[in-house]
Amino acid sequence: MAKGTIYKIQRFSIHDGPGIRTTIFFKGCAAKCWWCHNPESFFTPENNKLNEQNKDNEKNILGIERVVSVDELVAELEKDRIFYEQSGGGITLSGGEPLLQPEFLDELVNKCKDERHQYHLTLDTTGYADTETFNRIASKFDIVLYDLKLMNCEEHKQYAGIPNDMILTNLRSFEDKSKIIIRFPVIPSITDTEHNIRQIKELMLSLEGIAEIDLLPYHNFAEAKYARLGLEYRLKGMESPSKERIEEIKKYFEDSGFKAKIGG
Ligand code: SF4
Repeated sequence: MAKGTIYKIQRFSIHDGPGIRTTIFFKGCAAKCWWCHNPESFFTPENNKLNEQNKDNEKNILGIERVVSVDELVAELEKDRIFYEQSGGGITLSGGEPLLQPEFLDELVNKCKDERHQYHLTLDTTGYADTETFNRIASKFDIVLYDLKLMNCEEHKQYAGIPNDMILTNLRSFEDKSKIIIRFPVIPSITDTEHNIRQIKELMLSLEGIAEIDLLPYHNFAEAKYARLGLEYRLKGMESPSKERIEEIKKYFEDSGFKAKIGG
């Protein structure tokens, strides 16, 4: 049986899917987005050393890396079954990037969906995995929250640290597009440029079945975590987008027939 590495389990979450949910944060992400608010998910010598030092401090803000089996994890998820059932909620797998641990993720999903458990499952992903793996595993979820950051590959490499070709291929190839909700981080002067927003809308229009986009406005709440991890925070001093700008982007997508929501 595969084991997985996670860094946080968040119970009673009302984000990232319907109802009351438990969100499991997987460790590791191939991307390194400048605005990432979960830098503790990165595999770096610095934060792994800090995790080690903070092992006994349950209140530490970094989250503790844990190696878990599917059975252990599902036993923890079961404790809140009543809340999932009463609220129409379930489980969200987030990160980091869950698809970076495909064997473990696949086993976990199979168990969550077996006859006994039948959880509602949401995957929060950047879609960065080989196409066969992505399609095989993501198709087992009820909802796929799919990050789209930058349409230009060079800009994507610059600000997210990885190219976007595989991400776009996977989005295009995914069969049941009605499961997909696009997530767009609105980062002033980086992702919220006219050409980027227009290209995202054009892509969505070209892919039949995608009905919704969530706009995630930039905030700097994670800056302290970067300092604590000894990582450089490259958006120092950047302000959140104005309410007017967010409303303008929301309307832009709504005018093209999409459901647009502010926040996750
Ligand atoms: S893809 Fe998500 S988890 Fe990974 S670095 Fe970017 S924002 Fe962070």
